[in-house]
Amino acid sequence: MADAYRGRFAPSPTGPLHFGSLLSAVASYLDARQQHGTWLIRIEDVDGTRCSPRFQTSILDTLTSYGLISDEPVLVQSERHELYQAYLQQLIEQDLAYPCNCTRAALACYQGLHPHRCDSHTDQPHSWRAHCDQGQFEFFDPIQQQQRFDLAEQPNHPVLKRKDGYFSYQLAVVVDDHLQAISDIVRGADLLDTTGQQLWLYQQFDWQAPKLCHLPLIVNERGDKISKQNHAKAIENGCCRTLKSVLHYLGLRDIPHDYSLSQLLDWASTHWQRQHLTQQNLSLAEKDLDLIG
Ligand code: GLU
Repeated sequence: MADAYRGRFAPSPTGPLHFGSLLSAVASYLDARQQHGTWLIRIEDVDGTRCSPRFQTSILDTLTSYGLISDEPVLVQSERHELYQAYLQQLIEQDLAYPCNCTRAALACYQGLHPHRCDSHTDQPHSWRAHCDQGQFEFFDPIQQQQRFDLAEQPNHPVLKRKDGYFSYQLAVVVDDHLQAISDIVRGADLLDTTGQQLWLYQQFDWQAPKLCHLPLIVNERGDKISKQNHAKAIENGCCRTLKSVLHYLGLRDIPHDYSLSQLLDWASTHWQRQHLTQQNLSLAEKDLDLIG
C-alpha cells in the first residue's frame, strides 16, 4: 500500500537511552499505533568513533523493557556502508558532491560552516560535501507549524562522507528513511536545523520526503536541553512512573494510575494527539528532575 503509515525511532548509540530519547521513542510509537501503522527501530551508528555496540544493546534492552519493539528487524546503519557509497557515487556523478580537505581551522572564519565549493585535491585524504547552495523548502509541521528553509540564505555544504571513511548522519538518514519507506517522522526539534539539507537530498534523488513532526525539546530548570552532551542520566528499565511522566509531557492527561506498562501504552495509543503539544520547550517539573540526573 503506497500510503501506509510507517514510522521509526532512530537512536544513535553514543550513550544509554535518556529521558528525552524515550520521549521521542514513545511519541513516534504512539503516532504509528494510533494510525494503525508500522513502527521501526533503526540504529544510527554510522559514526564509528562515537557509537558503541554496548550502548546499542542497552538502548534496545531499555526500549524492549517499555514494550517498544520494532515491527520489523532492527536496521543497523554500520552494516550498510556499501549502500551509502552507491548513493554518494550517484551525487558525485551528478556533480552534486565534491571532495574537500578543509581543516576546522580554515573554516573558523566562517563559524565552522563550509559556504563555498572548494574541490580540494583528491590525492589527499578528504571528505565529500554536498554542493547545496540553493533550494527553498516548506512544510507544515503539526507541532512546530509552518517551516521554511532557504539554503541560499546561509550556504553550508554538509559532509556526506568523512575523511576517515565514515558516512554522515545526513546522507544515511535520508537514504534509510527512503529505502524503509518511512511515511512519517516524529523526532526532536533539535533536528529541525538539519531538515533543510535533508529535503535538498530528497530533491536531488527525486524522492518524496516523509511528513515531518518535531517534538518540543525537554529542558531542565535552567532551560538547558536534556541530552547526552549534558550528561542526562540513563533511565531505569520498565518503570511505570517514568512512562507516566513521558506521557504527561506528551500532553496526555488523566493517565490511569493502576495500569501496567503495556496497558499504559495501549491506552496512550488511543489518546495521543499531536495537537496537545506546542512549539514551547517542555520544562521538567521539580519532581521529575531525578529522572534526568
Ligand atoms: N540518530 C539521531 C539521534 O539520535 C536521530 C535521527 C532522526 O530521528 O532523524 O539524534
